[in-house]
Amino acid sequence: MDDMTKAVPSHPDVFTCQRCGNCCRHPNTKDASQRYIPIYLDEIEALQDIARERDVALDLKEDVMYPDYLNKRLIIISYALKFSDCCPFYDKNMKGCTIYENRPLTCRAYPVSIWREDGFRTLMHLEMECKHVQANSENLHSKSFEFLETYFQPEFKNAKQLMIKGKNILYDIIQLEKAEIIDVGFLNQKIDFFFEIENAKTEFLTWPRVKISELRIDD
Ligand code: SF4
Ligand code: SF4
Repeated sequence: MDDMTKAVPSHPDVFTCQRCGNCCRHPNTKDASQRYIPIYLDEIEALQDIARERDVALDLKEDVMYPDYLNKRLIIISYALKFSDCCPFYDKNMKGCTIYENRPLTCRAYPVSIWREDGFRTLMHLEMECKHVQANSENLHSKSFEFLETYFQPEFKNAKQLMIKGKNILYDIIQLEKAEIIDVGFLNQKIDFFFEIENAKTEFLTWPRVKISELRIDD
């Protein structure tokens, strides 16, 4: 995502941010009610600290969760930083991120994004909301994965980190389930996809919450 100080690279064969601000205003959709940035548990505290210091209100909602049938609770995997106009950390006048050094990994990867297909499969995707992607879509469409990996460096690298983060979370869940600390239905294939709270069945809405980072396998 754009940066107030980032110089535009002169090399024509690499991604050049056009500082349009789309990624901080409508990163994934033009529908104002659906705009959000995914925030992982290891990112949330730093963002809340900055927001407190600056007296900025954050609209953080639970995002990806799993139902733990064993303990009748919802396991929180990530949050969504919601907004309708633009991200609360975006400076409209300067057209840049005011927390650039601390911005979430999703922002570091943009316009490369990770789409969840289900609990096991993820896809790398180029966001069409990005002005650079829009302007070069015809050219980029025909390129190989290897070319895009170089073209969008370091965004691709950060997107890979996002994927690894997701896989590590799945690994933790499976280990917790094997140790019979939780039961989200992975091992008996009761569940095969992530879901957001909006899609959760009514029974889950009243279940207490626990963050995945709070669950431990005793030695
Ligand atoms: S955190 Fe920064 S880069 Fe990310 S959406 Fe907000 S303003 Fe943009
Ligand atoms: S949408 Fe793309 S071109 Fe526009 S500021 Fe974000 S990364 Fe840069």
